[in-house]
Amino acid sequence: MGLQIDIGAIVANWKALAAQAPGARAAAVVKADAYGLGAPRVARALYDAGARDFFVALAGEGRALRPHLPEDAAICVLSGHMEGEDLAGLVPVLNSAEQFFRDRTMRRGKPFAIQLDSGMNRLGMEAAEWAAIRAEALAADRGAGPRFIMSHLACADEPDDPANAAQLAAFRAMTEGCAVPRSLAATGGILLGPDYHFDLVRPGVGLYGGLPFAGARQVVRLSLPVIQTREVRPGEFVGYGASWSAESPRRIATVAAGYADGIPRALSSSGVCLYADGLACPVVGRVSMDLITADVTGLASVPAALDLICPEQPIDRLAGFAGTIGYEVLTSLGQRYERTYL
Ligand SMILES: *Cc1c(COP(=O)(O)O)cnc(C)c1O
Repeated sequence: MGLQIDIGAIVANWKALAAQAPGARAAAVVKADAYGLGAPRVARALYDAGARDFFVALAGEGRALRPHLPEDAAICVLSGHMEGEDLAGLVPVLNSAEQFFRDRTMRRGKPFAIQLDSGMNRLGMEAAEWAAIRAEALAADRGAGPRFIMSHLACADEPDDPANAAQLAAFRAMTEGCAVPRSLAATGGILLGPDYHFDLVRPGVGLYGGLPFAGARQVVRLSLPVIQTREVRPGEFVGYGASWSAESPRRIATVAAGYADGIPRALSSSGVCLYADGLACPVVGRVSMDLITADVTGLASVPAALDLICPEQPIDRLAGFAGTIGYEVLTSLGQRYERTYL
């Protein structure tokens, strides 16, 4: 019952992705509470498996994670150095000259990394901005230069997209001659092959069983307790808006989860199913805040819980029914589920 998180599968996925980029160090991206699965536990398990570089989005996430990891683990903050932020024990990834110069003591022995924009136009220094501070950043008070220089790919999940090669060329041009480790690939970039690996790879979603890492082991099972079952006669409706009605006698089960738990309301009438030991039970009627209804007529007996995320319906398949992506399904997983770690 509840949300089962297979830590062993996360570790296996990390090792499998690391093995695809044997020339690079493998970091672990644990932003957004490790994509909803619990950053302290995930990061600690990956540390024990050998990971020493971790990425979060915000300094606050880094501060929350810091006590859970030994000192030799680097926690890198992708948003960089924001005004007034306490970065003790963290490695800001500086995204602009403004961030680089924000705190002039930054470069006096304090760790930092640099992010360059290679074409995505979201975060990172533009070529001209980088050229203007490059010498100073690399010299950065003699010996305490950037830990690494990174950029991020916009289309790595589409291997044939010409943006990949264009970003690779731009990143190479901007970093040529820098005697500093380089990092370009997230999960998708790792799968694009060795040209994209450089010195440090940054897998996120693939660790958690999501596409584009099609070979990932599944990490999450979400089992929702059945509160009640009822028989519905032909012509009776189910749920808000009376959007579904029975054409024949049906048995309906009501389970305890809804859009307040991060299950998209857009799943209503989408073809999505709940599963009873692998048997599909179509969701009928609207997803409401705390409840979902499913047609369990085909089951010989109704189990105590029905699965929404399971081997028959992994996160990306579920996401497809809602018109979204596995990343959003994971990071929306609600706080009301009881989480158990395998
Ligand atoms: C989120 C993120 C990652 C991880 O991406 P995945 O696609 O989840 O592997 C890596 N690098 C940066 C800059 C990110 O924002």
